[in-house]
Amino acid sequence: MLTKILSLTKQFISIPSIKENNKALHEVLDIAKGELSGFHIEEFEKDGIPSILVYKENKKLRNFKIILDAHLDVVPGNKEQYASVEKDGRLYARGAFDMKAAAAVELLVFKEVAQKVNYPLALQLVTDEEIGGFNGAKYQADEGVRAEFAIAGEGTDLKVKNEAKGVLWANLSIKGKTAHAAYLWQGSNAIRMMNQALNQLAKKFPEPQKPIWKTTLNLSTINSSNQTYNKVADDCTVGIDIRYIPKDTETIVSLLKKTLPSYVQLDIKVKEPAQFTSKNNVYLKKLQNAVKKSINKSASIIAGYGASDIRHFNRVGCDGVEFGPTGYGLHTDCEWVDINSLKEYYISLKRFLLDV
Ligand SMILES: [Zn+2]
Repeated sequence: MLTKILSLTKQFISIPSIKENNKALHEVLDIAKGELSGFHIEEFEKDGIPSILVYKENKKLRNFKIILDAHLDVVPGNKEQYASVEKDGRLYARGAFDMKAAAAVELLVFKEVAQKVNYPLALQLVTDEEIGGFNGAKYQADEGVRAEFAIAGEGTDLKVKNEAKGVLWANLSIKGKTAHAAYLWQGSNAIRMMNQALNQLAKKFPEPQKPIWKTTLNLSTINSSNQTYNKVADDCTVGIDIRYIPKDTETIVSLLKKTLPSYVQLDIKVKEPAQFTSKNNVYLKKLQNAVKKSINKSASIIAGYGASDIRHFNRVGCDGVEFGPTGYGLHTDCEWVDINSLKEYYISLKRFLLDV
């Protein structure tokens, strides 16, 4: 089995499936489709981004008990990274850890168990997770695809990641009144007003000095149209990036409004949901049990700072977690996946699908 996992992984890796190379996105998916003959392969495409949903039933299905989700796109790498190198029990390559090896495992496990289980099971393969998943996992959700429980094969060291922070991007703008710099009393300085507003924000969102499971705020950009020293700046805009924990999802915007002085105009650009599935979720517990039974490791629950396509399931009310192999260096020049963990991943996932 490991031989098959590695050979499929290497085929995926040999295709530079980055967002700039739309042809490669189709090619990498074609490799997967070639492996899945005999199954119902439903093809989706939005804004040129292809994705598939694979299941055994011969009619169009929308509601599944379990969906295994994987993305076959990668962030750009060095040229050498599109060839796999095996060394010291590791497979080095772009996408080895994030997440072509996990995709290969999911596909092969799906192939092995799909005919054996008596519930609707699907394999979802997408090609735009690295740029937000809007035309892949989110599009499929918009088209009505639902799971009681979804598993994304992002690398988690065989632990179960049940929550991740949400993202909020916004601009804060202040309009003041211009004047000659020698006659300040005739104007109203927008930069000075912004300074006061930012001090209020800093009190509410102090800058953490170490990893912390709290909502945080970053000051990202600052601009004023004024480019002249001897003028009172009459406008100022600051861009902020907030990473919020799941329990602040409903309150973060009102908290922001309450904290900011009324002269600040708040313009929200992006609000991406946090990821959350209760650790008491029955499927999550079954997944933990399956790992324990299969490889005798306890699959502890972890929270993550970065989100995955699972949030698109959560957005439509479906539970899900990230669960994947061991590795290191995602998005770096030195990305690898632990080869033994792929075996463990395979048998754990198989056990879960058969037991659930
Ligand atoms: Zn990933």
